[in-house]
Amino acid sequence: MKRNIILMGPPGAGKGTLAKQLKESLNLVHISTGDMFREAIKEGTKLGLLAASYINHGDLVPDEVTIGLVKERLSKSDCANGFLLDGFPRTLPQAVALQEMSKEISRDIEVVINLECDNAELVRRISGRRVCRNCGAPYHVETMKPKVEGVCDLCGGELYQRKDDNEEALKVRLGHYVAETKPLLEFYEKLNLLSSFDSLVGKEALFETVKKYLDK
Ligand code: AMP
Repeated sequence: MKRNIILMGPPGAGKGTLAKQLKESLNLVHISTGDMFREAIKEGTKLGLLAASYINHGDLVPDEVTIGLVKERLSKSDCANGFLLDGFPRTLPQAVALQEMSKEISRDIEVVINLECDNAELVRRISGRRVCRNCGAPYHVETMKPKVEGVCDLCGGELYQRKDDNEEALKVRLGHYVAETKPLLEFYEKLNLLSSFDSLVGKEALFETVKKYLDK
């Protein structure tokens, strides 16, 4: 069973949804740098102010900030049973830093799950995405509607559209994905850690396939 996992893929490929499913079924710690930044923005911390100036336009938060945040989180004792990195690494310096820090704390990355999805579907998913302000559960205005409009089925929280889930910011995010994140696939291929999956099969089928693969 592989337990120290990186989830990769463009924005809208389904990393967050898969992470939530795997976290519950395998009892792993879910580390989403995007969620950590959004939490800091909500709390109005110094990190939040800095992160917002990048995130709201679809740009990447500087490496030194992001690497420091992940290093601190990965060194916590709850990661000993396994972790899911969702949205990190996104650049080569982040990937190199992750190799070093995972060695330092003896928690080597065991597998990189790459989710593939075509651009038209990414745009459709992102532009209709709504998220619970309280628990982060994902919804979609057409394909994953809540029982009551605007209200989270799980916790009753308010559903909102992320500031960076608009066409303009998405273009910037996809640009960063192609230029900075996609080259990491080769990095992990060379380390023999990469496995790619088609995310168009739907979230339940994808979850079952990935879970079976991790169980091997
Ligand atoms: P996500 O929730 O993963 O889509 O991330 C939302 C935004 O947070 C990204 O578009 C970036 O602005 C920022 N972010 C998240 N993870 C990283 C990262 N590893 N490096 C730099 N910026 C990040």
